[in-house]
Amino acid sequence: MKFADLHLHTQYSDGTFSPVELVAHAVQHGLAAIALTDHDTVEGCEPTARECAAVGIEFIPGTELTAEFNDTEVHLLGYFLDTQNPRLLAEITKFQTVRQQRIHEMVARINEAGVPLAVESVFALANCKSPGRPHVARALHKAGFVKHLDDAFDRYLKKGRVAWVPKARMSALESIALIHQAGGLAVMAHPGLNRTDEIIPGLVAAGLDGIECFHTKHTPAMAEHYLEIARKYRLLVTGGSDCHGYSKAKPLIGSVKLPYEQVQKLVAAVEFRRAAAPNSSGNGHGP
Ligand code: AMP
Ligand code: ZN
Ligand code: FE
Ligand code: FE
Repeated sequence: MKFADLHLHTQYSDGTFSPVELVAHAVQHGLAAIALTDHDTVEGCEPTARECAAVGIEFIPGTELTAEFNDTEVHLLGYFLDTQNPRLLAEITKFQTVRQQRIHEMVARINEAGVPLAVESVFALANCKSPGRPHVARALHKAGFVKHLDDAFDRYLKKGRVAWVPKARMSALESIALIHQAGGLAVMAHPGLNRTDEIIPGLVAAGLDGIECFHTKHTPAMAEHYLEIARKYRLLVTGGSDCHGYSKAKPLIGSVKLPYEQVQKLVAAVEFRRAAAPNSSGNGHGP
């Protein structure tokens, strides 16, 4: 059997692995295919594709966007993206700018709470265009202000705590359209995380292509539940570990194994979509 892991982060967003390290782990786990889904960036795709090509692993360029539907937050994964697509790049650049401002805001609030965390220490550790809460957590930990990364979220960073700053989010309809015009497939990430099944019909109506049935935080019962939903709405099935390297307690890559036949179905779907709309990637090159 061949397996894939289609939800992975690197140090181009809030993971700790470089592309070289990520692909080395993929090799260790015997994965046949991987997708990179860094938050609001596709910068890591080219170096990761190069590493994958060198070791014979199939690579899918992707991203993870934060969106909302009827005030409910939803994460959308874009797969098979044209990473040079001008509109995609313009939109994610805006999100990156907001993320950088958000770091300043979070650190200011942490400082007001009496913790002298230096904002430079967060940016030094993040060293990417798409920083997020895990970088603040790691900086707090490194400076000894919290005992564990979880502690940083519990005390400062999770929703409702002093340093929680909402993230800019697009409407899910715009996100799905953005992914489609970049030649990609749009997939609802980890639906079991906040149990927001009520928004699924609306996402399907907006053109959602797939749903992430298998995820680290899904129980087998949840996976079965979302497989049923995938059948009901004729959605593609994806899965991935959401590995962030050592931003989480341990690297999760390979802990969720998507059967390779689902990757073949994704490839067939993206080819079908591109044949139907040959200029959808917007770069004039076609598929
Ligand atoms: P952001 O995009 O900046 O809001 O950060 C979201 C990231 O923080 C995601 O990768 C989550 O997995 C991670 N995260 C959210 N809550 C926690 C938590 N309680 N402990 C560890 N990581 C978390
Ligand atoms: Zn993340
Ligand atoms: Fe997510
Ligand atoms: Fe993720």
